[in-house]
Amino acid sequence: MEKQQLVKELRLRNKELETVNRELDTRVQKATEELHNLNHRMLTEMASLREVDDLKSAFLNSVSHDLKNPLTTIKGYLSYILEEENPEKLGADVKNGLLMVNKAAKHMEYLVAQILEAAKLTSGTVHLRFESFSVPELVEECADSTRIQTDSAGIALTAQSEPSLTLAADRGRMLQILGNLLGNACKFTPHGGKISLSARKSEGGVLFHVADTGPGIAGEHLPRIFERFYQVETSLSKTSKGLGLGLRIAKDLVELHGGKIWVESKVGEGSSFFVEVPLVPPAAEKKLPA
Ligand code: ADP
Repeated sequence: MEKQQLVKELRLRNKELETVNRELDTRVQKATEELHNLNHRMLTEMASLREVDDLKSAFLNSVSHDLKNPLTTIKGYLSYILEEENPEKLGADVKNGLLMVNKAAKHMEYLVAQILEAAKLTSGTVHLRFESFSVPELVEECADSTRIQTDSAGIALTAQSEPSLTLAADRGRMLQILGNLLGNACKFTPHGGKISLSARKSEGGVLFHVADTGPGIAGEHLPRIFERFYQVETSLSKTSKGLGLGLRIAKDLVELHGGKIWVESKVGEGSSFFVEVPLVPPAAEKKLPA
């Protein structure tokens, strides 16, 4: 009797287990379906976001091209009037006004060039021209072209490099990257502040360091400042505003060299930007015998 009772109970439990199992199966199936749907939605949304991003880039690219021609005309006539005309013929007010228009046109030209450069980098049409050159000479050239800005802004600029260091990279692009970082440092460092540029050999190749005693960048913005169009809203831009493309362009160019760029900063203490590029370009490295 007892045995029969046990068998009966066992059958009952088995049935219960089977029901729970079936329920679990249905739930897992439902959850898998939901996950599948979510995944599909995410992929569709990502595709449309990418499409919007591509459209935005194409739009900016074509607008910049369209702005380039009238700007060239404006600048051409302005320089003709300002340089060729008899200065007495223009009143002081008119001349000042024209000089301001000229400055604005130059800034606009810079912004258009930034958009075109960023678009070219995104579409992969920028090709580097590698050559071997002296790092101390590069550092000196960067410092010389920045000194005009730092001298007039009352900022102390120092530059130093490990002697006899050579690098195989695109020299013009390296000037552009460091010029960009130094330009930002000048923009954000107040009168009486300090900017330094240094270069030394590192594990990864050559390490460039641009440091300033500006306001610094708050921690929450640090991971995003290399994104396209990202600007820190509270940033004190002493001169004309940029587009938030400078650091992105620098990052893309550094990565084309097979290198990396990063920032360390504390609010109130200044910012340090680092660029590390390999001594030998990645493409050339691949060609070396194993
Ligand atoms: P922009 O051309 O608008 O300056 P960037 O891409 O060069 O754009 O810089 C993005 C943002 O990073 C700037 O808006 C600024 O807030 C911040 N930034 C860059 N360099 C510095 C610096 N040296 N000191 C403080 N903030 C900086």
